[in-house]
Amino acid sequence: MQASQRISGILGGGSDGWDVFNKAREMIAAGTRVTELTIGEHDIRTAAPILQDMHRAAMGGHTGYASVPGVAALRQEVARRVQDRTGVPTAPENVLITPGGQAALFSAHVATCNAGDTALYLDPFYATYPGTIRGASAKPVCIQTRAEDAFQPRASDIAAQAKGAKSLLINSPNNPTGVVYSRATLEGIAQVCREHDLWLISDEVYDTQVWEGAHISPRALEGMAERTLVVGSMSKSHAMTGSRVGWIVGPRDVISDLINLATHTTYGVPGFIQDAALFALQQGESFEEEIAAPFKRRRDIAHRVLAGQNAVTLVPAQGAMYLMLDIRNTGMSGEDFAFALLEAHQIAVMPGESFGRAAAGHVRVAMTIEDSAFEAALKVLCVFAQNRQSPA
Ligand code: PLP
Repeated sequence: MQASQRISGILGGGSDGWDVFNKAREMIAAGTRVTELTIGEHDIRTAAPILQDMHRAAMGGHTGYASVPGVAALRQEVARRVQDRTGVPTAPENVLITPGGQAALFSAHVATCNAGDTALYLDPFYATYPGTIRGASAKPVCIQTRAEDAFQPRASDIAAQAKGAKSLLINSPNNPTGVVYSRATLEGIAQVCREHDLWLISDEVYDTQVWEGAHISPRALEGMAERTLVVGSMSKSHAMTGSRVGWIVGPRDVISDLINLATHTTYGVPGFIQDAALFALQQGESFEEEIAAPFKRRRDIAHRVLAGQNAVTLVPAQGAMYLMLDIRNTGMSGEDFAFALLEAHQIAVMPGESFGRAAAGHVRVAMTIEDSAFEAALKVLCVFAQNRQSPA
């Protein structure tokens, strides 16, 4: 028996981009010590008070089927948070609680695209994007951003692909580049969406990790609230990756349709997880700053280490938990560089090519290990690049 084209074709026939990561994991399983600078997972665990609240909720009986759209208090809190942060009037009816940002990304594409519709996204991209779009039976079409623009998308490049498309997926602060889209970039994107009648799916899961500039939610731009679905998550902001809790914020009628989708797929998020998410959100901004602080600190370390060399160049690291390093001076591809670094020094980074074509000749470094080990690994990476620099 054959599985459906929709499910068997999720990866689109290509590699899933995780070869270096998988090799590193094989080495670790074989007993080699590897410095992993690969995935976007905090080096701290979910804070004890959040877990205690989860336990309290579970012991208190919130273990049956929970409200499918999300428990009222959590929907209310997310609505309040989004309204406070963006100024856009937001009610609980604009919010659906989802099992993490990933489920929200999938649901948002199901909500906006019919089978076979073109869904645009930007390259470089978070690894799941094209597969998520295919899983929703839409056709992924990617638009290159450019290293020379520090990966800020050009509205004209998007407009060139927009005819007949249904949706555009963007992500700021960006994984993998660490770039935060400027107001001008977002205004340009919004204009293309309005002119071409596109849905905008705005992945804002890193919105609490902004080191330079400000996070602007495009839902707040003129005429955008009615055509924007915002994807949010507790994973990165509250170090709750394993709890699988996030949300979609959008127009009420779409949220109401999305509740039907949730009823027929996930049947919602466990009640005790939702209670813990509410507790976590109620800890306020200072808690979120605490969770984000290690990445801010390590970005400063990276600036210091990289200032002393010219073999690699840092793409402006404005937000999120990653650095994108341009290693084109070595003449190597990102993939060759990452494999060679792993082999020579047991340091694992992600090749830029894992995230599409636009970041070829780059590597992504996750700032997710303890400061001194992070600094040491970065220094080794720089010397490694220096030794491989092509003669001028
Ligand atoms: N969006 C981006 C850009 C991400 O980097 C991630 C996870 O790394 C996600 C969405 C999904 O996060 P989660 O499903 O844990 O909320």
